Amino acid sequence: MKGIRIGQGFDVHRFKTGRPLKLCGRTIPGEPGLDGHSDADVGLHAVTDAILGALALGDMGDHFPDSDPRWSGADSSAFVSRVVELAAAEGFELVNCDLTFIGERPRISPHRESLRASLADSLGVPQSAVSVKATTTERLGFVGRAEGLAALAVVLMAKGGGDG
Ligand code: MG
Repeated sequence: MKGIRIGQGFDVHRFKTGRPLKLCGRTIPGEPGLDGHSDADVGLHAVTDAILGALALGDMGDHFPDSDPRWSGADSSAFVSRVVELAAAEGFELVNCDLTFIGERPRISPHRESLRASLADSLGVPQSAVSVKATTTERLGFVGRAEGLAALAVVLMAKGGGDG
């Protein structure tokens, strides 16, 4: 099983009114946005870091630093696409991705299928390979006070083109 790699990613962004809320590449209307150098798509950032982690290629800060004006306001789908390319260059493709949002808002369930479709599109895999879930912290802590939104991602990567 040398050709199997697992990775995890975690991210948090603070809510900031006046910005659109972007999750998995989709805009969620009627909710405060998230603060950040890029579009602050916390779900895509967690997935990006999970893929980098699976391949031991560092983290988002290494590849897409906040100090780089190229990423100011960037669509985070570009980060996902880039790390999928990096993985492909090493012969790896994504088997599945499980993404969990942790926070009091927004309610994810009305948007779940849309978020899955968008994330699957960014990853270049069928929607059946992508799970999007949500939970709360029972109003405890900073996410419980709705100060921000957290996301946790796990990915499995495998060597493409056979049994590895
Ligand atoms: Mg982030």
